Amino acid sequence: MTDLVAPRGTYDLLPPASATHLAVREALAHGPRLAGYGYVETPAFEATEVFARGVGESTDVVSKEMYTFLDRSGRSLSLRPETTAPVVRAALQAGLQNGQLPAKLWYVGSQYRYERVQHGRYRHFSQVGAEALGSDDPALDAELIWLAATGFARLGLTRQRLLLNSLGDATCRPVYRAALAGFLAGLDLDEDTRRRAGINPLRVLDDKRPEVQEQLVGAPTIDAYLCEACRAHHDAVRTYLGDLGVSWVDDVHLVRGLDYYTRTTFEIVHDGLGSQSAIGGGGRYDGLSEMLGGPSLPSIGWALGVDRTVLALEAEGVAVAAPARCDVYVVPLGDAARRRSVTLVAALRTAGIATDVSYGARGLKGAMKAADRSGGAYALVLGDRDLEAGVVQCKDLRSGEQSAVPLDDVTDQIRKRLE
Ligand code: AMP
Repeated sequence: MTDLVAPRGTYDLLPPASATHLAVREALAHGPRLAGYGYVETPAFEATEVFARGVGESTDVVSKEMYTFLDRSGRSLSLRPETTAPVVRAALQAGLQNGQLPAKLWYVGSQYRYERVQHGRYRHFSQVGAEALGSDDPALDAELIWLAATGFARLGLTRQRLLLNSLGDATCRPVYRAALAGFLAGLDLDEDTRRRAGINPLRVLDDKRPEVQEQLVGAPTIDAYLCEACRAHHDAVRTYLGDLGVSWVDDVHLVRGLDYYTRTTFEIVHDGLGSQSAIGGGGRYDGLSEMLGGPSLPSIGWALGVDRTVLALEAEGVAVAAPARCDVYVVPLGDAARRRSVTLVAALRTAGIATDVSYGARGLKGAMKAADRSGGAYALVLGDRDLEAGVVQCKDLRSGEQSAVPLDDVTDQIRKRLE
């Protein structure tokens, strides 16, 4: 034991539970990889300005939740609270906007937010994300939404719902914003909320407190304000989603916590998770490139929460097949057998057979217990006498049957038995 523990709001991933997280990451990334998205990795920290300009100063994420620090040269850096702004920063830096568009990228990685900690809400969590930069084609919106929806379905989840909205663009959003600001001005709101409404009135729609929600009944909704181009875009996205067999719920109150969204926004919520129900979300951010000093680059993306997806799987009682830790467990008995086992284990592993081996001066009984616990299908017991005879004892750990197998043929024999 130690008195040193993981920081509040964080947790360690250790076997066997860690296998589920890995399987979730892989399953969620599977779709983008099949759809032409290439892997992107950016640093865990960025110049604070990337988030201040990209995510928006009025957001909780930037104003309250960032881990910001000065490095030893006095630069203000922040651990990434999200990865869309860094990906756009990286794409602009590499000049991807001058190549073939859309540039399609996916990532997996840690995010850091100083949040109020509760079940499903952590200060360190992991997301799988996909971003398509440089196209305003509504078919791309539908592609990404389908990829997210099928990613969750692939894992075996069934109790999720897709919420969909359009937030308009630079033409129609200001008109809606003004109408909403006028409405909010007539409400009884506390000082802090009023200040937020001044910076971005849409943020107030996201306020979950009942006393605020009650007053928002009758607030103007964006759907009545969409300009013709945004309405046509939104209709096209919904037509494609219908064609793809994706079901969704129109939610005119869906705003989401980051300022850069335009037009299509969506969230996937899971009904088994209580208050922290969003397992993924995303949308268009047609103006983000310009906010970061780049050219016009209409884009769309999503981020899916790995930790919450694991919780959703638990809530539904779905076990994600975690591969057995090994197929074969080798038990050398004696010094000469120990030495021979080193190359035997290497040969099995080279042949692609997952192999573990007993270390230390363990007796046969203890080593066989370890073999049982390993999850392997076979134990290969190698004694000095076997070695002299050029064989190894192969024990089927399920049936208990045992037979001698020639040492120089054991890799092939095991491979056949495992087929
Ligand atoms: P966001 O980047 O806020 O759009 O979040 C995208 C997804 O990341 C959410 O739908 C959640 O599944 C997950 N997520 C966001 N914040 C947290 C958090 N503090 N703890 C765990 N998962 C989170």
